Amino acid sequence: MIGVARELRLEDLDGVGPRRLEELDRLGIRAAADLPLYLPRDWQDRRPVESFDVPLSPGPATVRARVVRARAFAPRPGLGFFKASLETGFGRVEAVWFKRSSRAYDVFARLKKEIVPGADIWVVGRSEGGLLGAGELHVEEHYLADDPKAGLHVGRLVPIYPLTEGLTQRFMREIVFEALSRAAVPSAESLPASLLEKRGLLAASQALRGVHFPGSAEELRAARERLSYEELLSLELAWILKRRQAKGVAKGFAYEIKKNLLTPFRERLGFELTRAQKRVINEIFDDMRESSPMTRLLQGDVGSGKTVVALSALLLAIENGFQGAFMAPTEVLAEQHLETLRRFLEGLPVRFEALTSRATAARRRQILGLLGRGEIDILVGTHALLEGDVRFKNLRLAVVDEQHRFGVRQRASLRQKGETIDLLIMTATPIPRTLALSLYGDLDVSTLDEMPPGRVPADTSRCSEEQALGILLEEARRGRQGYVVFPVIEDSPRRELRSAKAEFVRLAAGPLRDLRLGLLHGALPGIEKARVMREFSEGRYDVLVATSIVEVGVDAPNAAVMVIENAERFGLASLHQLRGRVGRRGQSSRCLLIGDPQSEEAARRLEAMERIKDGFRIAEEDLKLRGPGELLGIAQHGDVTLRAADIVRDAGLVAWSRADAEEILSRDPHLADPANAGLKEALLKRYQGRWNWFDLA
Ligand code: ADP
Ligand code: MG
Repeated sequence: MIGVARELRLEDLDGVGPRRLEELDRLGIRAAADLPLYLPRDWQDRRPVESFDVPLSPGPATVRARVVRARAFAPRPGLGFFKASLETGFGRVEAVWFKRSSRAYDVFARLKKEIVPGADIWVVGRSEGGLLGAGELHVEEHYLADDPKAGLHVGRLVPIYPLTEGLTQRFMREIVFEALSRAAVPSAESLPASLLEKRGLLAASQALRGVHFPGSAEELRAARERLSYEELLSLELAWILKRRQAKGVAKGFAYEIKKNLLTPFRERLGFELTRAQKRVINEIFDDMRESSPMTRLLQGDVGSGKTVVALSALLLAIENGFQGAFMAPTEVLAEQHLETLRRFLEGLPVRFEALTSRATAARRRQILGLLGRGEIDILVGTHALLEGDVRFKNLRLAVVDEQHRFGVRQRASLRQKGETIDLLIMTATPIPRTLALSLYGDLDVSTLDEMPPGRVPADTSRCSEEQALGILLEEARRGRQGYVVFPVIEDSPRRELRSAKAEFVRLAAGPLRDLRLGLLHGALPGIEKARVMREFSEGRYDVLVATSIVEVGVDAPNAAVMVIENAERFGLASLHQLRGRVGRRGQSSRCLLIGDPQSEEAARRLEAMERIKDGFRIAEEDLKLRGPGELLGIAQHGDVTLRAADIVRDAGLVAWSRADAEEILSRDPHLADPANAGLKEALLKRYQGRWNWFDLA
């Protein structure tokens, strides 16, 4: 790990007392050695402006000037400002400081002392007109030119830190600088010299100085590159080791493809599997027949037919006398899965049950009894199946639908259910390949890249509410169902968004009064949610008014229209999921977006929805519009937290680090070579505690 001398304590730094210690603690900074590792979130160009004509965007402008005259004003109690005329090398600038005045003391005391005619100062501020000459400069920070620390704050590229209340950028810069300069040169270099040379990277100490106080844009780039690479290399090493560890486990049971269930299942389907489904089923079966446990991610756009694939895997397990678990993220979806099993497994000798909060205590006991005796083949439920009292007789396969909330640790705790079980994780949020490798590096990935025949993507367009409701009515007359989705459940005091509850009342009383309306949102009790969903699937409502709760997995066969209100408030991935809820049986379908995009990004999202049908391309577009933050959010649970690197921006470094990690471990599988000692230490420090695994011995 890169570090500064351990002996230096935070209290030893200038200006650090008990209050500061507490504030720094909130940022996770507990020793002086933590400061250099606390990376800026941004950098501001504070090189001095040299003319009035430069457009001052986006950040504030920095000016070096001599004070000509200065004066404080206090027009009324509570409001005060301080004005100074400044002479710069290119003309006069009027600078203004705003302060909340106080009766207790003179808020301008310091300014009156420092900003005096003749003083040589730096000011950092924003100009109203965008051009410096056009208006006054509203000062954010100022420094006396002869202040020895001024050079940290102005006249250069300046770091901006993520801070907590009470701390200022100025203070932070000064203590980071002090920590960097007082410590014996940060010594520990975690990367082997050969790698630094091969990739042309800065040494650790240089990179840390460069990332906080870069001498030039180029130095900043090189510093970030080095730190990002180091972080990514650690991640790649961790994934490889994790995989290696998983592959090293023998699961101690074997499958045989008997087909006494698989064949009748296929025959009853009523459709041919797509080529993609066949290929993916083979990939999964090959994995299941391996001696080490499967950990596979199945990605496929909404409607690509993941359920049939999952059922095939479950049936293979059952053919071999084992049990399977089928887990969904919500109870509503678990209920839906149960329905799906009924539909697909009818007439097959397969016993399945759902364990949800709907079950009474007695029923729950009964199900657990059957499960423990092996009299249930497939148990459907939510992550509650991971709870302690759920004991299977011989669980061998777990299928997890919609992996969003399913991180490395969830995988581990599931594994403990059956000592070594096969795991199939399904997601409808496709992740571009490079990203998938970095976010789910321990998973093998299968992709359903083909839609069942006849499935036409919903025709998507923006329109007015009136038009949308007209289409809903029209379709209802033809016996088709529809959804109207709202961003929130309930009206908020400011009512800036339409809510499902309020609009349900309005629609039922007015525009849609001739139709049968159902209401579904997350605040309903579980039983109620399941009931509404079931009734909608059975065709007892024409229109379901809902929140984005219907986004995942809900499968109402007859639904053909999806109306989304305040569509500008939904992310691309959500919009695409929602639109996947209609046209499930190949009927032509429509998605109608109602909304008033306030930002350019929102407008581009809606435009992308009209233009792009394919889920993978939607995901790529999403990435372009929003960056990887959201996707990293998916991989939460602290599986992957990157401070320096950005998987999208640093795609090139991702590739380097992956190749290097493979090479390093192929030569030195246990990182025992002294040249790799720094790497090993950094790796253990970053991941051992969090991922709870690997053993480098
Ligand atoms: P998802 O991948 O979104 O979970 P589903 O598994 O729910 O998709 O499948 C969507 C619909 O397509 C279901 O009604 C399913 O029965 C149907 N389906 C799946 N595979 C095929 C196929 N090969 N041919 C025709 N219809 C299919
Ligand atoms: Mg599904």
